[in-house]
Amino acid sequence: MHDATARPDDGDVSGGPELRRAREELAGALAELDRVRALLEHSTDATLVVDDGGRLTYVSPALQQIFGYRPEDLLDESRRAAILHPDDVVLVTRLTELFATPGAVLETEARVRDAAGAYRWVELDIRNLVDDPRIGGVLVHAWDISRRRRAEHDRERLTDLFEATHDLVGITDAAGKLLYCNASARRFVGLAPTESLDGLTMLDLFPADDEDRWAAELLPALERDSMWHGELTLRHGDGRETPVLCQIIVHRDADGAIEFFSGVLHDISERKAFESRLAHQATHDPLTGLPNRTLLLDRLGDAIERAGRRSSRLAVLFCDLDHFKVVNDSLGHAVGDELLRAIARRLHTVVRPGDTIARFGGDEFVVLCEDLRDGRDALPVADRIIAALLEPFRVGDAEVFIGVSIGVALPEHAGSRFEAGDLIRDADAAMYRAKARGRSRWEVFDNAMRASAVDRLDIEQALRRAVDRRELRLLYQPIVDLGTGRIAGLEALLRWEHPDRGLLSPADFMHVAEETGLIVPIGLWVLEQSCRQLSRWTAAVSATASTPPVRLSINLSGRQLAHAGLVTDVAGILADTHTAPALVELEITESVLMEDVAASAQALGSLRALGVTVAVDDFGTGYSSLSYLRQFPVDRLKVDRSFVNGLGTDPGDSAIVTAIITLAHNLGLRAVAEGVETAAQLTELRRLGCDQGQGFHLARPCSAHDIDGLLATRPTW
Ligand code: C2E
Ligand code: MG
Ligand code: MG
Repeated sequence: MHDATARPDDGDVSGGPELRRAREELAGALAELDRVRALLEHSTDATLVVDDGGRLTYVSPALQQIFGYRPEDLLDESRRAAILHPDDVVLVTRLTELFATPGAVLETEARVRDAAGAYRWVELDIRNLVDDPRIGGVLVHAWDISRRRRAEHDRERLTDLFEATHDLVGITDAAGKLLYCNASARRFVGLAPTESLDGLTMLDLFPADDEDRWAAELLPALERDSMWHGELTLRHGDGRETPVLCQIIVHRDADGAIEFFSGVLHDISERKAFESRLAHQATHDPLTGLPNRTLLLDRLGDAIERAGRRSSRLAVLFCDLDHFKVVNDSLGHAVGDELLRAIARRLHTVVRPGDTIARFGGDEFVVLCEDLRDGRDALPVADRIIAALLEPFRVGDAEVFIGVSIGVALPEHAGSRFEAGDLIRDADAAMYRAKARGRSRWEVFDNAMRASAVDRLDIEQALRRAVDRRELRLLYQPIVDLGTGRIAGLEALLRWEHPDRGLLSPADFMHVAEETGLIVPIGLWVLEQSCRQLSRWTAAVSATASTPPVRLSINLSGRQLAHAGLVTDVAGILADTHTAPALVELEITESVLMEDVAASAQALGSLRALGVTVAVDDFGTGYSSLSYLRQFPVDRLKVDRSFVNGLGTDPGDSAIVTAIITLAHNLGLRAVAEGVETAAQLTELRRLGCDQGQGFHLARPCSAHDIDGLLATRPTW
């Protein structure tokens, strides 16, 4: 150990060992002092001492290095105060207190202006050491903390941003324990702003069903990529769930171990709602809210598969409104739309909850019945639909009547293969059959229909040649006067002796004839043929008895009525065949008349001017407003057989038939009941005062030859 006492005398000339030691100590002290001064000079802390008179007794060089001030710049007390930031001037009072209180200490931060005029944050440690004789004043340490304050400020700004954002921001430790939640996240979880996050973990916020996803997808991705981005569902404190878009980042320590997770979660419920609205729009009809064609085909595909698995049956009901166009044209589209909505609502009341009702097209609805033991169990559903729609609809001020024709497709074997599209096509074909057979009824698809649908083109080509090849026939059905019980007239009904298919009814080919326009030449043939036949009968009857001659009823289709040459053609045929126009009645269905009310009224007027009479056929199925009837110059109403059908059994049908008969009589018209099939119906019609009847119960359509016999025997009913 170095010991001054152990040193040999070094020959000092100016004193003895005492003095030498003192000198050495002094030299040591001076060296120490020097060291301290050097330390002070190199310190980045500025140090100064102010005595109780306010004078600076020490200023460290750092003051100049940090702030640019020379000691003399700070001699003046007022200048010292002026270097404080205006917001920190409050410090002056505390300093004054400190100066008056020996031993007092003040640790604070303040902004101090440097010589260049810029403010810097400094941390100040100020102690009143007047009682320490070595200092004898107030010792001030000041060091620059601008950088730290800037960092803090930056962090505050970030935190402010986090707190202000609507996104949820959270930080957890490696175990998922929540360490930080921004204001939005706290609100979401239901935590007060200052409430502790203790005990909350990240997984508390996600529903249990997502746990598998965490294990299988998120955690491996976080481990591998240190981040994950995707959609999750967040669970609220109250159990509600919110879809969120999520960005999770892994923060690792220096050794690469996971230290924190941070996450930013963006509420996407609006976008999701919008997406699902879009999806709904893509699969639903905007007017009625029913599934549209796309969704129907989708569901039908699923249903076919399910039915195969469960060995259950399904049925497709293709429902086409009868003469909806008339409603639209006569009452306006707003009423039409409202009617469609009302129909959609009514359909819901007659099908089972699990069945699908879709809007397939303008006035087409498709009902899919599932889980049937037998496909035919769907037929009562078809009956219910027809019955439900027959009840009038109240739309605004109008009372609207609408019928529906239904085609039913019943896939035959649960195990057989068929496609959704095939079923719809079959049901559609059956629907056309229902229309052709008089509307407001259902038909089940059968394979013959498939053949007829497939061979439609053949029909068209064969029909073009049918007249020339003399394949067309006419049957005649007696119309009986219900007062006298005798034959009052005959309706000519067309048949086609098809070379391969046998005898076809109008239902099998009339639509093709209509669509191709072939009905015009065919109709002329019917007119001419039947008028010739009538002339023969008239001659025969008047030759044998003094009974009134029978009247001939001939059907005209829409296409014929619209044909410009119709009136001339009819006049020509009447003349050529020497037929008394008064014996000819032309039948036009109500729906055809309603298609263009003004044009129909005009055409009927011209026809009647020839001397023929006019009947409204299938009355009651196509009307939306009875007021139109007044506009048509007609002589007879033929009550549609769908109403006659329920006579005596269905009070609704009886009411309708009564109403039609009364209406006809009030308008000065005669009423004819179509489709009289039973004695009970006949009795009821007589009771109701119906003028005439036609139907299988009275006489079936038969050949001209058979009519000869009937006319000769003069039967009564
Ligand atoms: P429509 O004018 O209403 O003729 C009555 C239809 O009802 C006939 O069918 C007739 O056979 C059938 N019918 C008669 N009594 C009964 C009954 O008691 N029960 C049932 N279920 N049905 C009965 P058809 O002959 O098949 O004719 C169907 C439709 O085809 C006719 O209905 C008519 O609109 C149209 N049509 C027939 N012949 C011609 C024609 O020469 N020209 C035009 N344009 N259309 C025709
Ligand atoms: Mg008719
Ligand atoms: Mg009819």
